[in-house]
Amino acid sequence: MKNFLSQLNEIEYNEAITNNIDSLEKLIQLLLKRIHPHNIDVIVDILKQSITPSISQDNDNSIDILFDEIKKNPKLIFEKNIQIKIEKLIIQRFEKDKKLVIQKTEDISKLVLLMEEYFNEAIFSSGTGSKNVLNIKEKIVSMNIKNGGIEVLEQLKKELVSAATSIEQEMNNVTNKLESGKSKIEELEEKISSLENELNRTKAENRKDFLTQVLTRKSFNEEIIKIESSYNRLKTQYAVVFFDIDFFKKVNDTYGHECGDVVLSTFGKILDKSIRDHDLVGRYGGEEFIAVVHFNLDRELLMFLKRIKTIVTENSFIYQDKKIKLTFSAGVAIRNKYPTYENTVQKADNLLYRAKQSGRNKILLDNGVEI
Ligand code: GH3
Ligand code: MG
Ligand code: MG
Repeated sequence: MKNFLSQLNEIEYNEAITNNIDSLEKLIQLLLKRIHPHNIDVIVDILKQSITPSISQDNDNSIDILFDEIKKNPKLIFEKNIQIKIEKLIIQRFEKDKKLVIQKTEDISKLVLLMEEYFNEAIFSSGTGSKNVLNIKEKIVSMNIKNGGIEVLEQLKKELVSAATSIEQEMNNVTNKLESGKSKIEELEEKISSLENELNRTKAENRKDFLTQVLTRKSFNEEIIKIESSYNRLKTQYAVVFFDIDFFKKVNDTYGHECGDVVLSTFGKILDKSIRDHDLVGRYGGEEFIAVVHFNLDRELLMFLKRIKTIVTENSFIYQDKKIKLTFSAGVAIRNKYPTYENTVQKADNLLYRAKQSGRNKILLDNGVEI
């Protein structure tokens, strides 16, 4: 009996001693607890399955190699070094699966964050933010994906796609509305700009006297402010010339008021065409005109005055089939001889009066020259 007991393993031996196993009958009971090699095969299979990672596909061959060995020799499972190897593989299996679960969860979190950003952006840009979209966003935020299964994710995906589609439609609508609004705005802008042009044209026309197309007295006086400021800065010499048609009343009386208008208009054109860009001509009153004429040398001014006198006196004004002869008188004062523009105008006016008094058809200058 002692010989039998010595062949037992440590646990069996201790049990035999504790339970006072002293006969072969009792020993059989104890030995029946031993696992049959066939059962070991089954256990080895189960053990292998439990060690193989369930999520991670990343499986080196170490498990297969070890368990092939154990299958050939099931007793190996009881060896210490083999048990240590199995223990290591179990730890590895947990680590691999854990790592993968963490990674997958992070991916889903990233997806949710991305979708949240997408919705925020979409709601903000569409400006309308449909209620539907807001509800889905709230759902995503409150969803516990870690505890949810694949069905939850499938459902989430469906809802996200349909929400994204509805947002896109909404955005398209907004874009279309904006585009049609844009063409309306462009139409209005065109109208505004054409009205502006018209207004500017009208303003420019208002500056001119309707009949003679030279400046009105008001706009002539406005222009003088610029002329004076340039005169004060640069001392650009200019003359003020007052023109008055001689016996104009007679034209009206003889040929009619309409003929008088045509004559006035022609006279205005003659003056306007004779001056240069920075000079001015205005209608001061009925048949009186005023001009600002810049010049460097006296003879330039004289030539200007003579040219006008020649044009007016050596030609006839035409009205219908009538040819009308005209003269005019003028007074000329040169700005730098007087302290102010007003004094210059007054002098020119005086000289015009004197020209009239002394027989008309005369241009009197403030330096005594008479043309
Ligand atoms: P003087 O040589 O002294 O200047 O004589 P005048 O006849 O030219 O001067 P007066 O001031 O006596 O008469 C000016 C006339 O000009 C009187 C007025 O009916 C006429 N007149 C003023 N404005 C217009 C106008 O726009 N059209 C027409 N047709 N006549 C006008
Ligand atoms: Mg007059
Ligand atoms: Mg007159």
